[in-house]
Amino acid sequence: MRCLMCEKELGYGSLTDILFGDDPLCHACRVKWKKKRIRFMFEGHLLRSSYVYNEAFSSCLIRYKELGDEALKDAFLYEDKNWFRHTYRGYTPVLMPSTKEKEEARGFSHLARMFECTGKETLSPFVKLSDRTQKGRTRAERLAMSVNIGLKEGAVLPDKIVLCDDVITTGSTLRGALKALEGYTGKIEIYTVSATSLWFR
Ligand SMILES: [Zn+2]
Repeated sequence: MRCLMCEKELGYGSLTDILFGDDPLCHACRVKWKKKRIRFMFEGHLLRSSYVYNEAFSSCLIRYKELGDEALKDAFLYEDKNWFRHTYRGYTPVLMPSTKEKEEARGFSHLARMFECTGKETLSPFVKLSDRTQKGRTRAERLAMSVNIGLKEGAVLPDKIVLCDDVITTGSTLRGALKALEGYTGKIEIYTVSATSLWFR
């Protein structure tokens, strides 16, 4: 088996590759990811994250999400899948939506596949109504914007949910989702696999 990022044959590079051979990334690629678990309150809800959104994480995510390299699906939660299952016991993962066009172009639901390895049943009750572009706007404008998200007709949510996304950048997607959940009375927590450096201050 080869590392899905650098193509190096796994198991020949280092002892770590042999010992942890089911990681889809080789040790050299894995250590480029900056593991840093953080937790903070986001709009009144506890948000946890596992990685700093650095260049290595971002290029893996782009390859998976934008170039449709589906084989990378297990790389993101490989280190934290058991922690996730344990931390969110009793919570149902609720996935952030992509626009229909993006998901059709990709051919698979990238978050659903990403969270499969946690062994938890996930829900996708949201629809992203439009992809308002953030290009050409100031940072303050981007922060103030929230993505237009709605709940699918007839969507039923359990009592405890954890909103899940791959990365928190401006937080606008999550803000949009929370807005769509205004009538919901259950408990909401948030998990993003990574967070941009802005959230580490
Ligand atoms: Zn590699």
